[in-house]
This record gives sequence, structure tokens and C-alpha cells, in this order.
Amino acid sequence: MAGQPLRAASSRTLKRLQARLRSLAGQAIHDYAMIAGGDRVMVCLSGGKDSYTLLDILLSLQRGAPVEFSLIAVNLDQKQPGFPGHVLPEYLASLGVAYHIIEQDTYGVVKRVIPQGKTLCGLCSRLRRGALYRFAAEHGITKIALGHHRDDIVETLFLNLFFGGRLKAMAPKLLSEDGRHIVIRPLAYVSEREIARYARGRAFPLIPCRLCGSQPNLQRAAVKRMLRAWELEHPGRTESIFSALRHLEPEHLADPRLHDFAGLDARRLGRAAARVLPMTEAEGHGLSAGRAAR
Ligand code: SF4
Repeated sequence: MAGQPLRAASSRTLKRLQARLRSLAGQAIHDYAMIAGGDRVMVCLSGGKDSYTLLDILLSLQRGAPVEFSLIAVNLDQKQPGFPGHVLPEYLASLGVAYHIIEQDTYGVVKRVIPQGKTLCGLCSRLRRGALYRFAAEHGITKIALGHHRDDIVETLFLNLFFGGRLKAMAPKLLSEDGRHIVIRPLAYVSEREIARYARGRAFPLIPCRLCGSQPNLQRAAVKRMLRAWELEHPGRTESIFSALRHLEPEHLADPRLHDFAGLDARRLGRAAARVLPMTEAEGHGLSAGRAAR
């Protein structure tokens, strides 16, 4: 009995959190025209908190959406040692959602090809992307939904800034390099902290990451620590950085491909001429009025 009010309160909190995530995802879907009527959306599920949350929120949005679209959850079983292959099929069957498990031993390939001690992630990610894109092409998928969130996007921005010399992050909607697929990130406005809280509240059957035995990406981990420290010192900083990504001002950056710096002189002369012209006309009117009076 004593525990009941507490449970009721936490279920209300969870409902409020779900409403917030639905609203943020709905806003991102709208802002970037991510999903249209008739779309076949493939939700990539890894078994981590982000992709479970993505599927959960998309299913919830689908129920009240003004347009009809279909969802299929897809997991790539990479044959990593200890991968609990039954967890996702059982969970997805319990939801009644369409799903498919692609079985491809990318783990074996990566282990064979990459020398011991070198990072596995580059090749692994390419193989994974290839498998998912192939499935999408073969099954008439029109949108590929990934669970990246706002913090992933901001971390990527700093990784490119610090180590790549590029002002480049992760787009909420992206055309694949070969032009055949559209990738969408409906959780682009959601923070990782809220996703973690939601995943705990919903008790998703999480599959442990790093079954591959790979070391975490040290550069990304360092950027994550830096952003966390900033956030503690100045709450809202990550949100502000993300907001900056939505409000670029190319004329105050330094990329001549985005802004016509060379054309500034011609614009200045054009404006000067535009300023002189009305004066001349006014003078003209004054002159003819004077003549008429004479
Ligand atoms: S952490 Fe493991 S599964 Fe993930 S990309 Fe790297 S090698 Fe692949």
C-alpha cells in the first residue's frame, strides 16, 4: 500500500516524459519533413536505449499521425560473441510490430581483416551500413530512422571541429552518398539524459554494448566529458550549441562557397546607386515643380 502513491507519481512522471519526447520528435519530424504519407520507415534497432526509445516514440506518434506510414523494426545480428539473439524478437513480437533480423557475421569479417590492437569501428560501421542499406533497397524502404539524439549531434560537431577541421555535425535528415536512401533522426531535439530516463522508466530489455570487445572511441569519450563538464558549469550550453546549428550566419563565417564574399563590392556599389537614385528623382521633381511655378 505504502508504495502505491510512489508508483502512481512515477507513472505520471513517465507519461509526462513520454509526452515531451513525442512533442520534440514530432517537431523535428515536422521541421525537417522527415515522414510523409505512404512512407515505409525502417527503424534500426541495436538493442540500446536510443533505438528502443526511437521505436517506442515512433509507434506512439504513428497512432495519432495525420498521415499514414508504416514502420518496420530491423536489427542486424552481427554475430558478436554472447549476443542474446532472442531478446529483440521476443520484445518486438510482444509489441506486435513488423520486424526483421538480418543475420550477417560482420564481427567475424572485422576480426579477420583488422590487425590485433587496431580499432574495429571504421570497418564495422561500413559493413553495418551496407547491410542495412541493402535491406532497405530490397524491401521498398523509403526512410531509414536512426536513434541519434541531440548530444550525438553536438559531440559529432566537436569531433569534426577538433580533429577534422570541418564545421560539420550530423544532419537530422540526410540523403545517402549514393543518393538511394534517406536517413532520418527523429530524436535530433532530444537530450541523451531524457532518453536514458525514459529507457529506465520503460524498462526496455537493453542489450549490453561492446560485445565486440572494441575499445570505446577515446576522442568521442573525451568530447562527451568536455560537454558534460560545460553543462554542469553552465546548464543549457549543449542546447545553445545545438541551436547554433539551426541558425547559421554564413556571412559571419569564412566559407566562400556559402557566401559571395567576392560579390560584396558589387553589392555595395548597387546599394550606393539605389541610394542616389531616389535623391535624383526627388531633385528632378523639385526642378520641374520650380519650372512650372515660373
Ligand atoms: S563498438 Fe563494436 S559494434 Fe560498435 S562499431 Fe565499434 S566494432 Fe562495431
